[in-house]
Amino acid sequence: MIAILSGGVGAARFALGMANLIDPQDIFIISNVGDDEELHGLHISPDIDTVIYTLGESINPETGWGLNGETWRVMDALAAYGGLTWFRLGDMDLATHLFRTQLLREGVTLTEITDRMRKRWNVKPKILPVTDGHLRTVLFSVSAGVEKRMSFQEYFVQHAHRPIISRVIYDGAEEATATDEVIQTLETASAILIAPSNPVLSIGPILSVPGITDLLLRRRDKVVAVSPIIAGEAVKGPAAKLMSELGLGPSALGVAQYYRKIISAIVIDSADANLATDIRALGIETAVTNTLMDNVEVSRLLAKTALDMIGGGPN
Ligand code: GDP
Ligand code: CA
Repeated sequence: MIAILSGGVGAARFALGMANLIDPQDIFIISNVGDDEELHGLHISPDIDTVIYTLGESINPETGWGLNGETWRVMDALAAYGGLTWFRLGDMDLATHLFRTQLLREGVTLTEITDRMRKRWNVKPKILPVTDGHLRTVLFSVSAGVEKRMSFQEYFVQHAHRPIISRVIYDGAEEATATDEVIQTLETASAILIAPSNPVLSIGPILSVPGITDLLLRRRDKVVAVSPIIAGEAVKGPAAKLMSELGLGPSALGVAQYYRKIISAIVIDSADANLATDIRALGIETAVTNTLMDNVEVSRLLAKTALDMIGGGPN
């Protein structure tokens, strides 16, 4: 059984490769919930949904989020009222949020709801929210000496990740508890893979939940990361820009430094082969390969390279 620490798009592509490599029932995806947001009274879990829709072969391939063949009649009707439409929710996608929100109101845990949704999309890997409690990524920017607070979606979608970020916090982390399923998975997994996700915005919230980082420190020889940064740039999104603003090197080396205490191995892109020596000097085994997952076969080979590094792969 293997664990994947996961954000949204990068992680979903990686998990799809893994599901084509090993028995999908042996894959346990530990999902970020720091991006979750309440809008229109609905609980939205973008990273969980991206993973489910991708593994369920129903993701919109153009956007990397939302459903393929989606329609937007509700958003259009909402726009006519002058309603809140900066966060787009497709007509079919809305059913996901209605279903989740209703069950949460009835007291069902996010873990249980996610499992029911996974089954509806015929997804074999388990998807485990890192916590059933409150955990939200909050970003701050400073303008004219005044600090401005943004939720993740306000930063990412409403402001198109343009603001220069001065600091990031994981609101609720101190009181959050990892679920039993997550702890048990991380205790027993033969390999723990950190997907090529945004280190600060997707993996950071998972690591902020008390107990998780300690567990990974203990199991460091089984933890391998895949760099989301290729040649100093994110494949998608603000990972490189944000890392640079926060004083973390915007490179595969910066990613290795960010994770150095909890990983024993990393996979970096061929374009970054020149960084391998510096990364190895950190005491991190380094594999160099093509990491741009533009098709499932690349994802599968990337998953194999990562697993092979810590001896967790199939024969
Ligand atoms: P989000 O929640 O949708 O933003 O998704 P993630 O945090 O999982 O993914 C965003 C990160 O994935 C970005 O930093 C991208 O650079 C990275 N990413 C996306 N596609 C690829 C890919 O094909 N290869 C690699 N190495 N990284 C990728
Ligand atoms: Ca995300």
